[in-house]
This record gives sequence, C-alpha cells and structure tokens, in this order.
Amino acid sequence: VSLVPAREEQPRGSGRLAPADRRIRAARPPKEAVDPRRPLGVLWEEERTPDRGVVPALTVFLAGAECPFTCVFCDLWRRTLDGPTPPGSLPAQLERALAEAGEAGPARLSGALVKLYNAGNFFDPRAVPAADEGALAALVASFFRVVVESHPRLVGERALRFAAALGGRLEVAMGLETVHPRALPRLNKRMTVADFDRAAERLAAGGVGLRAFVLVGAPFVPPAEAVEWAVRSAAHAFARGAGTVALIPVRGGNGALEELAARGEWEPPTLALLEEALDRCVALGGGVAVADLWDLPRLARCPACAEPRRRRLARINLSGRTEPRIACGECGGG
Ligand code: SF4
Ligand SMILES: [Zn+2]
Repeated sequence: VSLVPAREEQPRGSGRLAPADRRIRAARPPKEAVDPRRPLGVLWEEERTPDRGVVPALTVFLAGAECPFTCVFCDLWRRTLDGPTPPGSLPAQLERALAEAGEAGPARLSGALVKLYNAGNFFDPRAVPAADEGALAALVASFFRVVVESHPRLVGERALRFAAALGGRLEVAMGLETVHPRALPRLNKRMTVADFDRAAERLAAGGVGLRAFVLVGAPFVPPAEAVEWAVRSAAHAFARGAGTVALIPVRGGNGALEELAARGEWEPPTLALLEEALDRCVALGGGVAVADLWDLPRLARCPACAEPRRRRLARINLSGRTEPRIACGECGGG
C-alpha cells in the first residue's frame, strides 16, 4: 500500500469556492507540514462517561485530508493534508499510535475509550477511505467505546456500517456550536439546528452514542450572552440525546477570527466565561458536561490563579459536581 499521496492537489474545490469560504481561507496563516505516515499525536486522559463512570480515554490525532467545510472559527485545517488521505495511511498511523500509547496506557484496553480525531469528518470518504474502515475497526476492537467526529450532514449509512464493524460501541461527536439563531448561520458551517437534530435521531435509531461540541465565545454571539447561549446549546444537545457535551472555548489564530475581532464581532472568551458555562451546564443535570481544557493556557492570563483554576475545572470534569470558584487576590478571578 502506498503511503505517499498520488499527486499534490489543491484543497478541494479551491477553484469553485463560495465567496464566504474564499474570504475565510484567504485570511489563513500557512499550514504546518504533515506526514501522512505518522499520527499527529496521542494523549491519555481520564474521562467521565454517562454510563461507566471515570475511564481511561485515549485520543489519537490522525493526519488526513482537510475538511471540505470552512467554519469561520475553525483552525483544525492547520494540520491536515491538501489532498485526499492516501489509502492505507490511517491504519498505519493508528497502529503506530496504539503502539506508542500502549506503553503509557492502562494494562487492559477493554475498560478504555478511544477517540479517533482526524481534524475533519470521519465519514468523509476523502478523509477516511472506505477501504480502510475494516482495518481501523479491527485495530480498536478491544476498546469499549470508539469516538469519531463528523459534521451532522455527513452522518448516514456509513456511520451505521462502521458502528456494526466495531467490537465496542460507536459514539459520534458532532459540533452543534451554538443554537443562537443569528450566529449559527453566520458561522459558515452550512448546518441548521434541524440538521443536527436529524443526525442525532439517525444515530439514536442506530444505537450509536452522541457527544456534542458547544462553543463558548462563539463569533456573532454578544459577549454578554456567551454563557447563556452556551448553556442553551448544551441543553438542546442533551435533549437530543447527547450523553456528553464538551464546552470548547473558541481560540483565535485562524486569521478569520482576528478579522471579526477587529470588526467587533468576536471577543476571545475569558477563563471566567468557561468556568461559568461549565458550572451552569453541570447544573443542567442532562448528561456529562465537560470543559475542554486542551487550550487552557491560552485563556488563563493570570499566573497567580491559572493552575488552581485549571485543576478546579479538571476536578469538575471528572466529578460532575461544581465547586466554589477560586478567589484570586491578583486578578479578582476574571
Ligand atoms: S466542520 Fe469541523 S473540521 Fe470542518 S471546518 Fe467546521 S469545525 Fe472545522
Ligand atoms: Zn488571578
């Protein structure tokens, strides 16, 4: 199996992009060089699940084709290939990743969940060649749960087929982002709340789990309403069957967000916003609400309280119980 792309390609459809896509892409800084033979990284964490308590969770970051969508807040394209994912590349990456992760992970993988995150959509055949599905499923057969990401409009037969091929249960992570009626259409995600709901129904009918990503600090949502809309969005996702809602603080750096910031249409969220959103989403009691902490150092501006506040969020992620906020004499906890 060749691991080398057959030819260098321009990003899909670059000649016939919609004007909004073209504008967002024109603002991008350069991509990083990505090797289709190597996973981008592996990460062991602990994660609370709706049904099994706290379990070891392995995230494998796979290198693959860029997502065909052009969401205004997204920076996942930075570490993707320009062309399609070469056939055979993902199983080879996953094999390497599991070997690497195995040395640091739990003795028995049957009690662990694995996330296969490809910085795009797992059910996009350009990102995950259909011919590789069986090999990928076989490689993760010993995990009790396998989580993959997908745009709601790409959830269909293929998701059910992949679910059937797994040893454990499939869970699909979809970005709901925000249910704010004016902000969601402007995110350029080409998705409505109804699209999300339809995909959620399809997954539930097929016995597939659902996790939702909700933005904290979404562009076009007035900053004073950021927490309120994150909570409403999480409540919507839980009502549609999401077992887990991950709150993602929007991070700048993709070019488009900086342009929106200059026009007053986006403000980077603060750590306090994320804290408030998590406290309120946990209080909803609808499922597991967690704050995504991968980029926390970028949010935390005060060296005096950054670490205790990170530890507090990490504890709430695992316990599902809120705690009093950390008081800080330096910054006042902003
Ligand atoms: S669908 Fe997901 S990966 Fe694709 S551009 Fe939007 S946020 Fe990024
Ligand atoms: Zn502080």
